[in-house]
Amino acid sequence: MTGSDTRPAVLPVTTNMPCKHVFETHDPAHGTLVGRYGTATPEQISQVLDHARGGFADWSVRTANERCDLLATWLERIEEQAEQLSHEMTAEQGKPLAESRAEIGKSLREARQMLGFARAHGGTSMPGRAPGWSNTILRRPRGVVLAITPWNFPVLTPLRKLVPALATGNTVVLKPSEYTPAAAMRIVQAAQGVLPDGVLCLVNGAATVAERLVAANVDAISFTGSVPTGRKIGAVAGGNLVPVSLELGGKNAAIIDKTDDLDAALDAVTAAAFQCSGQRCTAVSRVIVHADIYDAACTGLVNRLAALKPGPGSAEGTTLGPITTPAQLDKITRLVRAAQLDGAGLLTGGHRLTPKEAPDGQFFAPTLLATDDPENPAFQDEIFGPVLTISRFHSDNEAIRLANATAYGLTSAIFTDRLAFARRAMSELMTGMIHVNHGTAPDDNMPFVGIRASGLGTGSVGASTLDFYTTEHAAYVAG
Ligand code: NAD
Repeated sequence: MTGSDTRPAVLPVTTNMPCKHVFETHDPAHGTLVGRYGTATPEQISQVLDHARGGFADWSVRTANERCDLLATWLERIEEQAEQLSHEMTAEQGKPLAESRAEIGKSLREARQMLGFARAHGGTSMPGRAPGWSNTILRRPRGVVLAITPWNFPVLTPLRKLVPALATGNTVVLKPSEYTPAAAMRIVQAAQGVLPDGVLCLVNGAATVAERLVAANVDAISFTGSVPTGRKIGAVAGGNLVPVSLELGGKNAAIIDKTDDLDAALDAVTAAAFQCSGQRCTAVSRVIVHADIYDAACTGLVNRLAALKPGPGSAEGTTLGPITTPAQLDKITRLVRAAQLDGAGLLTGGHRLTPKEAPDGQFFAPTLLATDDPENPAFQDEIFGPVLTISRFHSDNEAIRLANATAYGLTSAIFTDRLAFARRAMSELMTGMIHVNHGTAPDDNMPFVGIRASGLGTGSVGASTLDFYTTEHAAYVAG
């Protein structure tokens, strides 16, 4: 690889200056170099922000339909490149190719659904104070939106921010994760020649670059990532009085009541826990099982984990890819040890893995920990890996109390044959998303939203996200 292989620090390329600093991405299944990217300099960051500010004047005054038509063309371009995109995602993030393809498909479905919401989003009329008067509640774009995204869903998370922000007339500067920028670059490049200049920009780099962007003159910040980073961004945004949407971590519980179909519940929990090797904010990481079926659930889960096929995401048949970053692999290893030291039983897994097709890869065995202690790290901490914790309950009260016994509030599931218990869970589980009798996969038209430590402000995906990207105005016309 030569210096000329370094990919640009910013898009569109606003300067020919050689990059002073670069960073690299590596295939987590093999340890091989995937990409080398420039790190944006402070000057480049200013240029990109000015560029996005300049693009706002024209973009913001177009009609919603015109913007949505152009965005629909952009989505078609992305779809045409779906196969390259899925391979780039798997190379940097590690997930099985089937999951990369599914992520792109879901991203596009959500995005198209959002265009439908955006075409209908706008002013609402209210009765005026006297005959002939009219009152209108207007929504206007905010200006330049900063979007910061993590490494686990390199296509889905950026599109969940870009589409509603752009459709409502904002311009966007995207800062993708430094571990998985390839997909974001392809998405932004696909907009060239479709969206006007200055509408969609990208800045590459890690925390220092992101901090500079957060402190800059932007009009809204949409962040998805970890709680510690979210707190930092929230503090700066609060100081600058910039609206912020924070989509953060989770420690999601699935309650399994005594049910006629334990197998179906265990299948759903296994899929929800181990897709993307558990590196999903909505992964089920705790399963809280009625004491009468606890032993059967443990056996059923151990068997299902044994059936997972670890390996490189690019290999046929792989169902458990590598852990994306070395730091994440260390964190998983450390937290599993801490849970065991604190008394959790190890029912299977608990160690790093070396699949024969990927001897240099970053793999962790699918793991089942057992604890009834809500203070145990396996119960409290977001491990963000292929690790599930099983606990038991004896009454409906205890099930709900245990499910709610963490700081997080992203998603939860309940498997029960009793309608009353399901209804109670829907009103008492303290999570933004609640699933009855299925895993934690969200729909394309529903708000994707966390509460408590899992999120602040409006979530994404559903129609309500459009409100975050717009300001509200009360306009009066006298008769
Ligand atoms: P992270 O917080 O480390 O990084 C996320 C992004 O923030 C990256 O682009 C990173 O460069 C940037 N960043 C790092 N330090 C920063 C700082 N000081 N100021 C501003 N930006 C900074 O998260 P991650 O490890 O990439 O992702 C994993 C986390 O994301 C998990 O906690 C997961 O639950 C969460 N997540 C949440 C959702 C959701 O919708 N709720 C979705 C996906 C992932």
